[in-house]
Amino acid sequence: MLTTVVGSYPSLPQDPKSIGSKISNFLGSYDPYIPALEIAVKDQVNARVDIISDGQVRGDMIEVFARNIHGMAVVENTPKILGKIKPAVNSSGTHDLKLAIKTAHKISKDFLNSFKTDSKLFDGNDLNKNFKGVKGIITGPTTLVLASRVEGYYNRDKKEKIIADMAIALKKEAYELQEAGAAVIQIDEPYLSTGVADIKTAKNALKMITDSLDVPVSLHVCGDVGDVLKDILKFSVQIIDCEFAGIPNNIQSLEQEYNDSKKIGFGCIDTKVEGVDELNDVVKLIKKGVDIIGEENMMVDPDCGMRMLSRDTALLKLKKMTEAVGWL
Ligand SMILES: [Zn+2]
Repeated sequence: MLTTVVGSYPSLPQDPKSIGSKISNFLGSYDPYIPALEIAVKDQVNARVDIISDGQVRGDMIEVFARNIHGMAVVENTPKILGKIKPAVNSSGTHDLKLAIKTAHKISKDFLNSFKTDSKLFDGNDLNKNFKGVKGIITGPTTLVLASRVEGYYNRDKKEKIIADMAIALKKEAYELQEAGAAVIQIDEPYLSTGVADIKTAKNALKMITDSLDVPVSLHVCGDVGDVLKDILKFSVQIIDCEFAGIPNNIQSLEQEYNDSKKIGFGCIDTKVEGVDELNDVVKLIKKGVDIIGEENMMVDPDCGMRMLSRDTALLKLKKMTEAVGWL
């Protein structure tokens, strides 16, 4: 069974250590997030995770995009929409994605060989059990708009138009991540489970993004998805990714709504608590999921991003997850 992560990893920017990096620092070209990314990649590869992320080490899932997309800005820690939203000139994530791929290849022959043989996540209709890769991650248009304060150009009561423009901006980013070598594109839309998002608008916006992509797309929605699972299972993506460890209700919702139309990213590690999950509990939970959706439709991951945990805990949790998969 394939293993993956949702995205963020607790790896902090690093002071320059080598003479080379100290010189770069002196010249103003040192990037403290690069060693942070390398640590995140190393830990994920060492925990034997199949589809890893770049660790999203540069900051918050909203701000990283708000700083870059035309028409947005971060003012006193608040993401704002100040003008007409247009695609960013430069991608937010392709540089880090390429670096993560390179780092994973250096550490692991499995990653390198998977790339050389050009293997794909899907083997026909089933998930390819031998797949390794790095995912490209974007924050979804609905979440980006609803998490920002609208202060210019748009009528703040007409979110549909803003979300559609945001989708056009993110479509370019997603396409660039694909071209940079992303094995999967993941779209994070935590706002879809909160009750404040219009699901039809969200669906149309996501379709605008996914229409131009050839790689599989995973939609991550955290929280209790009881009210929306039926709808999001109809979105134009191949994988729906939710929390099942921290939110037991989601298991019942899956049981009621699952219809074989999508693969499921099955969150099986609680990312809200520092305590490391018990192996038995994780194995039991995964087995419950398998009974509902079938092994061929399932990949497992932690419930959500791991930014809030300590690095030691995050690594132990990832190892527990891959160990649990080994016990199946
Ligand atoms: Zn999440």
